[in-house]
Amino acid sequence: MKVTINGTTLELVQGDITKQQVDAIVNAANSRLAGGGGVDGAIHRAGGPSIMKELKEKYPGGCPTGSAVITGAGDLKAKYVIHAVGPIYRGGTHGEAEKLASAYRVSLELASQHDCQSVAFPSISTGAYGYPVDEAARVALSTVIDFLRTSDRKPSLVRFVLFDRRTYEAYEDALRKLTAQAS
Ligand code: ADP
Repeated sequence: MKVTINGTTLELVQGDITKQQVDAIVNAANSRLAGGGGVDGAIHRAGGPSIMKELKEKYPGGCPTGSAVITGAGDLKAKYVIHAVGPIYRGGTHGEAEKLASAYRVSLELASQHDCQSVAFPSISTGAYGYPVDEAARVALSTVIDFLRTSDRKPSLVRFVLFDRRTYEAYEDALRKLTAQAS
């Protein structure tokens, strides 16, 4: 599914984010930036050791939840990896939505600052971090749409790369509802 928001293409695909030919790939990292399973493990495996080396050198203190840092992309086709730290879901009453939205916003700001024309996001926090995917999809997409509507400096393509069918369908449903509201 694909829509245009203020001149930017916002696209949902099912697939593997490490295979994307975009300027920046966003990683669902942990706050220690220590590497892990899921999409984080896949990105470090495909990108090689230079990404972890740069993280250790530049960000030895890690990255707070709701924020993001940027590195090169090693052996990946992208130019950059943006390591975004989403919240661990603890019932939804611990500021999780704000932190998730902030992780997406800071990632888009970093991508824009580095002149990225295309950015790929995974579904941050909905794997090991347990965020219910329907809620996370609404937060993720409304945050990206809001950024695209209000920011002068922005990429021309934002692609969500959803790993499994269930996640893809949740994002598709959320995007339909959000764009129907707008028109
Ligand atoms: P978190 O700890 O933020 O929940 P996970 O990596 O556990 O992060 O999961 C986030 C999402 O990324 C899940 O939907 C998971 O299925 C998905 N995922 C795992 N591997 C990949 C991949 N190679 N490309 C895209 N998405 C992936």
